[in-house]
Parts: sequence; structure tokens; C-alpha cells
Amino acid sequence: MNIHEYQGKEILRKYGVAVPDGRVAYTVDEAVEAAKALGSDVSVVKAQIHAGGRGKAGGVKVAKNLDEVRTYADEILGKTLVTHQTGPEGKEVKRLLIEEGCDIKKEYYVGLVLDRATSRVTMMASEEGGTEIEEVAAETPEKIFKEVIDPVVGLTPFQARRLAFNLNIPKEYLSKAVKFMIGLYTVFEEKDCSIAEINPLVTTGDGEVLALDAKLNFDDNAVFRQKDIAEYRDLEEEDEKEIEASKHDLSYIALDGNIGCMVNGAGLAMATMDIIKHYGGDPANFLDVGGGATAEKVTEAFKIILSDSNVKGILVNIFGGIMKCDVIAEGVVEATKQVGLEIPLVVRLEGTNVDLGKQILADSGLNITAAESMADGAEKIVSLVK
Ligand code: ADP
Ligand code: MG
Repeated sequence: MNIHEYQGKEILRKYGVAVPDGRVAYTVDEAVEAAKALGSDVSVVKAQIHAGGRGKAGGVKVAKNLDEVRTYADEILGKTLVTHQTGPEGKEVKRLLIEEGCDIKKEYYVGLVLDRATSRVTMMASEEGGTEIEEVAAETPEKIFKEVIDPVVGLTPFQARRLAFNLNIPKEYLSKAVKFMIGLYTVFEEKDCSIAEINPLVTTGDGEVLALDAKLNFDDNAVFRQKDIAEYRDLEEEDEKEIEASKHDLSYIALDGNIGCMVNGAGLAMATMDIIKHYGGDPANFLDVGGGATAEKVTEAFKIILSDSNVKGILVNIFGGIMKCDVIAEGVVEATKQVGLEIPLVVRLEGTNVDLGKQILADSGLNITAAESMADGAEKIVSLVK
């Protein structure tokens, strides 16, 4: 789960990680009021969307007075920002963060992720802050330093100091930088983050170490025990189809291809996407209906797939273990009756009650292409959508 920068900063502040003073604004008037209340000479108007790269796309503006705050707020609110993280369709700005302007000495990068190779949370840091860390990693990987964190002891002051030294953070900022890093790790750990990225972390002219940007992502499977985080959810930033899917407890992720996939089990869903690719097609989604899906759930899943106008064909690939093939077949028939089906549908069923399932599909009178194997199904749907 993703949250906005201003929300991330609220959390950081609670954990003693220093951030500039700021307020959220939903309208131009609120933006001006916020800047007035901050009372700083310079304020920064920042678009709040669930994507980075806003600065380059014109979503972060430094305002020298209240008139400029008004001008920039008016310009950014309602604008569709296209950044390298939004995809070509961009994201509409509906909230702003009005923040006090900082006298930046230098920008650094600090991030925490779970490193699956070591099964440890790892802090990464670089002196090359402000820019895209992916570029630093590709061009000058020696400028990225890592500390692998032992889950029992957490990030130690020694490790934080070593990172700060490697980043050449001047010694007058050292103790604040160490406190910052340890605070950030505590947030990551206690709040069940999957990513905590501060780009940039800055040193300022008045001796502070601050998070100027904050990207916090949370493990969806832990949100149930992080009630305060759950409240930060902004549905307007999420894909409508994904929201609908989560209501029905379906694992659905929208992709940009044109072949809708309905599969049971995450592993089989991945393999199905691979095999579609193998035959030259592009999946429109990842969808795992789960092990114990009912006919109703299958119907909902089908509706979600069909609500994507990019979908030009559907491949249903089900292995009936706990789930029975006849239940799937009933769901497919019911869904196609409810929503109407004008595009090719290929169904591959295998497992418990497979003959009954195939019979239900054959008797339905619907235009369904049966597949004998996964490869056969993928090949058929790819050629049908072409
Ligand atoms: P993004 O990463 O989405 O482009 P950032 O929050 O990192 O957005 O802002 C981009 C740049 O704008 C920062 O690298 C920094 O140079 C500048 N900036 C952001 N917030 C402030 C602030 N409060 N004061 C001064 N400069 C800022
Ligand atoms: Mg940034």
C-alpha cells in the first residue's frame, strides 16, 4: 500500500525523523492559508500523487511570496502530471503539500528495502541524492553504500555512522544524520514498510538534517494490524479495478496488455502470463481467484476483467484441486450471461470434476474455445486476439 508524501512525513515526525514544517491543501485558498500559517519566507508547493519524479514534471515549485503560492497552487491543482513513474496517462493532482522552503546545503539518498537475497532489511545510501537512484546504480554503483541489518539488533549506531562517513556527511551533521537513519529504520520496522525512501535527505544551512521527500510503502498483508496506516489509503490514487477486486478478496493487478487472465493460484497465474508472452501475446492483468472461489467470486472476477476496455480476449486457466472445475464453469457461464461476451474466450480446465466442467461449458451455447493444455490455451488466445 502506498501513501502520500505529506502522510509519510506525518509518520516520520512521530518517530523523531526531522522533516520540514508543512500542511496539506485541497484548494488554492487552502494552499495560500497554509503558506500564511507556516510563515516562512519561502514555501514550496508540492503535488501529492502516488508517484515520484514530480520535480522534473513541474509538480514541485518554490514560491517566494503568497502571490506565487497562489499562482503555483492554481497551476498544479487539477493538472495531470506525467512522470517516469505514472505511465503515459499521468496522474491528476488533487492535493498539495505546502511546505517551508529549506536552505539546502547538499542532497543525499537514503532508502530501506527488504533484500530478498540476504533475507534482511538493507539500508542503502548515496551522496548522489536528488537524482534518480536507478541512474546512480547503473552508472556509478560504487557511489551506493549498503548496510545489511540484523533483525535482532536493528540498525546499530555503528552502521549508521559508517554510512554517514561513506557519504562524506560533514561532522557537524553526523549525530543528527545517525539519529535520522535509526529513526527511519524504526519506522520501517514498526510500521511494516516494504519501502522507505528518502530522496533527498538534505543538510541545511542552519545545521539540520531533514527528509525533503518521503516515499513509504507498506506490506498489504500487514495493513490489518496498522490501523492508522489503513486510514491513509487514498482510493482515488488506485486502479478502480484493483479496488473492486480487493472488495471480493481477489488478487488482481492491472497490466497493459490485451489478454485478460483468470487463474487460480499465484504460481499458476505467473506461469500463465509467461506462456502468453511466450506465444507473443501480452497479459492485461494478473488475477488469482484463490483456492476456494465460489461461482459468485468467479463472476465478479470476470466482470472486473471485462471492465478493462483494453481486453480483447480472455484466457481462463484453472487447475481444480480444492476448487472444482464445475464451479468454475458455472461461474464463467453465469458471468458471460450477466455481462455479455463479445470477445474470444479460451478455457482450459484440469483437475477435479473436469468432465462435468467441460460439459457445462459445452451445454451453455456460449462461444467458448476449449483448450487441451496450458500451451494450447495460450496459443489459441494469442491467435484469436490477433
Ligand atoms: P520528486 O522526487 O517527486 O521530484 P521531491 O520532493 O524530491 O519530489 O522534490 C524535488 C526537489 O525539489 C528536491 O530534490 C529538492 O531539491 C526540491 N525541494 C523539495 N522540497 C523542498 C523544500 N521543502 N525546500 C526546498 N527545496 C525542496
Ligand atoms: Mg524525491
